[in-house]
Amino acid sequence: MTEQEGVIKYRLDFEPGPPPGEDLEHLKVCRAILHGLDMIGQHPDRYDGYGYGNLSQRTEDGLFVISASQSGHLETLEQRHFTQVLEADIAANRLRARGVLPPSSEALTHAMIYRLDPAIACVLHEHRLWRYGLNAGLPRTAATVAYGTPQMARAVEQGFRSGQLSGKRILFMAGHEDGVIAFGDSISSALGVLLHHWVASR
Ligand SMILES: [Zn+2]
Repeated sequence: MTEQEGVIKYRLDFEPGPPPGEDLEHLKVCRAILHGLDMIGQHPDRYDGYGYGNLSQRTEDGLFVISASQSGHLETLEQRHFTQVLEADIAANRLRARGVLPPSSEALTHAMIYRLDPAIACVLHEHRLWRYGLNAGLPRTAATVAYGTPQMARAVEQGFRSGQLSGKRILFMAGHEDGVIAFGDSISSALGVLLHHWVASR
């Protein structure tokens, strides 16, 4: 099953405004590493030229801050390339956000992960380790489940409650070509999960 990267599938209430006030320095370093490893990026011959991969951190203000839509080509991100997500209604497929640029098209998937456990502080979505993960038998959601849907929310919740997903802290979405999500109780722990599997995949 293939699908269009970069196309926002949820209803977005976007309030143009200032960049987030949150300290995002660690997240920016993490983003530069993921871009350097081609886990986040943009190529003319992939996904019709749309960018891929994104990342977020939980915030005091609102829910979380996420990289902006179509920022994949940038080597490093600045404060204005992050957008504050204020509210997410997964069942209604609605999201409210504020910033300079609209949030990533996969922001609702991030919202669903944060909802699983208040200890989750960072969510990383990358596009490099997918084939390795599916071949290695790591936690996955079914090919019939598309990302950003209520079915995906339920599938992820089941995996988390069963302990399989919460232990591994990484998820391979068979229904979202190349889609991998890792999370952790800090930016460095979420990044560590991806780097561990990146080494194992080589
Ligand atoms: Zn993706």
